[in-house]
Amino acid sequence: MARYTEAVCRQCRREGVKLYLKGDRCYGSKCAFEVRAYAPGQHGQARKKVSEYGIQLREKQKARRIYGMLERQFHNCFERAEKQKGITGENLLIMLERRMDNVVYRLGLADSRSQARQLVTHGHISVNGKRLDIPSAVVKAGDVISVMENSRGLEYFKGMAEALAKKTIPVWLVGDAQNLGGKVDRFPTREEIDIPIEEHLIVELYSK
Ligand code: SF4
Repeated sequence: MARYTEAVCRQCRREGVKLYLKGDRCYGSKCAFEVRAYAPGQHGQARKKVSEYGIQLREKQKARRIYGMLERQFHNCFERAEKQKGITGENLLIMLERRMDNVVYRLGLADSRSQARQLVTHGHISVNGKRLDIPSAVVKAGDVISVMENSRGLEYFKGMAEALAKKTIPVWLVGDAQNLGGKVDRFPTREEIDIPIEEHLIVELYSK
C-alpha cells in the first residue's frame, strides 16, 4: 500500500499550522513547528502572494495531511461525499471522521492517526466482534469498536483502561474503557468536528 514517506513535521511547516501528527510530541517543546514556524526549503521564509487556487489547494492539502491520506483516496472520498444529500464539504468531513483509523484515534486507543492506522492494519482492532484491518473502512452508527481479545495482553495495551477512563472523547462516540474501545452512537455534526478546515475551499478546488 502506498504511503506518505516524507518527514512528518515538514507537513506542518508546509501548511503553516500545527497538524498534530505525532501524538504527545506535538504538545511539547520538541515540536518542530514551535522552533521553525515557516515553510521548509531555501525559500521557506520568503513572502509570497498566494492565488485563490493556491489558498484552495493548501486547504485541501491540510485536510488530507491531517487525516493522513494520499491524493487518490482523498479525491475518492470527495466524490462519495458529492453524491450524498446535503452540503458536500460537511459530508466530506463527516466521512473522514468515520474512517476506522480516525475513530480508533478519537477513542483514545492511539496518540495519532498514523499510530491508529498501524493498530488497525496489524489486526488489533475489531468491529462488532470481528477483526477489521482496513483503516479506510467507514463505521456506521451502532458499530462497536474494541481491541481484539488476543491483543489485550500486549505491552502497548497494558494499563490502557485506566488511561482511557480519563480521556475526553467526542460526543458522538461512547467510550468503553474496560473493553478498550467504544461505540459509534451517531455520526458527528460539522460543529462537533474540531479540525481547522474551511471545507468550502476544498469543494471549490475540486469543482473547477
Ligand atoms: Fe506538527 Fe506534531 Fe511535528 Fe509539531 S511535532 S511539527 S505539531 S507533527
